[in-house]
Formats: sequence, structure tokens, C-alpha cells
Amino acid sequence: MDVYGLVGNPVGHSLSPPMHEAAYDALGIDARYVTFEPAESAIADAIAGADALGVAGLNVTIPFKQDVLGLVEPDPLADRIGAVNTVDFSGDTPRGYNTDAGGARRALTSHDVTLDGANAVVVGAGGAGRAVAFALADAGASVAIANRTVETADSLAADVGPAATAHALDALSELLADADVLVNATSVGMDEDATPVPADALHSGLAVMDAVYSPLDTRLLRDARDAGAETVDGAWMLLYQGVEAFERWTGRDAPVDAMNAALRARL
Ligand code: NAP
Repeated sequence: MDVYGLVGNPVGHSLSPPMHEAAYDALGIDARYVTFEPAESAIADAIAGADALGVAGLNVTIPFKQDVLGLVEPDPLADRIGAVNTVDFSGDTPRGYNTDAGGARRALTSHDVTLDGANAVVVGAGGAGRAVAFALADAGASVAIANRTVETADSLAADVGPAATAHALDALSELLADADVLVNATSVGMDEDATPVPADALHSGLAVMDAVYSPLDTRLLRDARDAGAETVDGAWMLLYQGVEAFERWTGRDAPVDAMNAALRARL
């Protein structure tokens, strides 16, 4: 039996175990997916211990995504983003990936959102914002990053390169007038009826994705629907980061429908 898991603190309410175990059930894979909650000071021991014990793969979440970058061999994308959310222990050295980026890209493209040549606006420049900004720029979009703390947007835009620009939140209305894609990667709207984007800046030419998945139907997504925009909820990004992790670990196509059903049954 293969053991996969999630390392973070806290991980008690994670939706990853049912999502991944649904994939094992669907494909008849003999594996379990468990959660680990080490002390913050113990993450290096936790990664080395998982490797020594023959754990096949780990997802990594808050607060360890940046720490784990220095404990594994990161692939170039994870290195540029500065965070690892997936570790593969199958080789001689643990390899680190960032599947939040691919998750964001596939969440959008699976809804027929064109990214190559698109004008995209990303609100937020924290962990999710970094993954989304790199994903969209690598897919050929120009990316305007708006963040409450403009200095953080500045440094993300510099890391992404010429495809990205940095802005304050009060530039959103102007930025959105010409935009095709909007992603909320702030925590605004999580467990609250709030949005970081003025409703009157939304329009029917936009595809709007919210990284927030609790609640699933955020105020931003309701405002976007009211404006006639296409919407993609945060569970799609969560789903596809898990799909990409599963595919890296097993080398098999993920049973996306089974994973999606297991996830949505719990949201
Ligand atoms: P983070 O690193 O802590 O970043 C938080 C971001 O939100 C920063 O840009 C921060 O701006 C901004 N922010 C926080 N409070 C704000 C406010 N009151 N007004 C305006 N901006 C505010 O968090 P994260 O890991 O990026 O996560 C962000 C959200 O994405 C969370 O809800 C998380 O659950 C979700 N997420 C979803 C997925 C998925 O797969 N669907 C994956 C990852 C994360 P400052 O820089 O100014 O502080």
C-alpha cells in the first residue's frame, strides 16, 4: 500500500483526503492519503522522516510551502514561485512542485477561458496570488497584479517579468475595463460576505475566478454573474491542484469526475 498525505498546520478540515482517496477508489489503487500536523520547527525532520519511511508523496500547505522549497529539489516553476505544495519521493532526491499554478490554469481552461493573449487581472499577491500570476503569464496572458500592499505586488511583478505590472487596489476599475480574465487570490470573501472588487467594475466580457472556496458562492462570483460574466468557483482550482499532484505521483490520468464529486460533496 502506498501512503500519500498532506503536511500543514492546521490540516484538520482539509478536503484533500476524500478527494485523493476517491481517485484511488475509482482506479483501484491500493493507497491511503493521511494528514500530518508537525510543529512549525519540525518541518525538516518531517520531510526527511517521510522520505525515510517510504511515503510516496506529500502535499504541503500553510505554513510550510516556503520552508519546503529549501528541503527538496524544486522544479523551475516552484523555484520561481518560491513555494512547493507537492513533494514526490519516488526518485533519489525528493522533488518539489507547485501545482497551485497548474491548478489555476486548468480551472480556467477547463471552462474554455482563453489565456494566451488575454488581459488578466489578479487581485492579491500572497501565496495564491504568486501561483496564479505565474500560471497566467506562462500561459501567455498579460497580468496586472493589484494588491492592498503595493510593495508586495511590485516584487511579484518583478519576479514574473515583463508580462506583469503592479497596482494598488484602487486601480481595479480602470484595469478591469479592458480585462478578459479576473482572479481573486486574496482571502477577502473567505467565511464572510465581502469582495475586494467593486461590483460596477465587472462586465459580461469577463471570466471571473475566485480562489476562495469557502463559501463556494462568494459575493464576487454573485456580483460577476449579475454582471453577465462567466464564473469559475474556487473548488475548481482546488480540484485541479489535486489532479496535477495525483498525476505527478502516479503517472496516470486522474479520474477528475470522481475527485470533483468527492470534493463538492463536502463543500
Ligand atoms: P496569503 O498568502 O495570506 O495572502 C493573502 C492575500 O490577501 C494578500 O494579497 C493580502 O494582501 C490579501 N488580503 C488579505 N486581507 C485583505 C483585505 N482585507 N483587503 C485586501 N486584501 C487583503 O493567503 P493565500 O495563501 O494567498 O490565500 C488566499 C486565499 O486563496 C485564501 O482564501 C485561500 O483559502 C485561497 N486559496 C485557494 C486555493 C485553491 O486551490 N482554491 C489555493 C490556495 C489558496 P496584503 O499583501 O496587503 O496583506
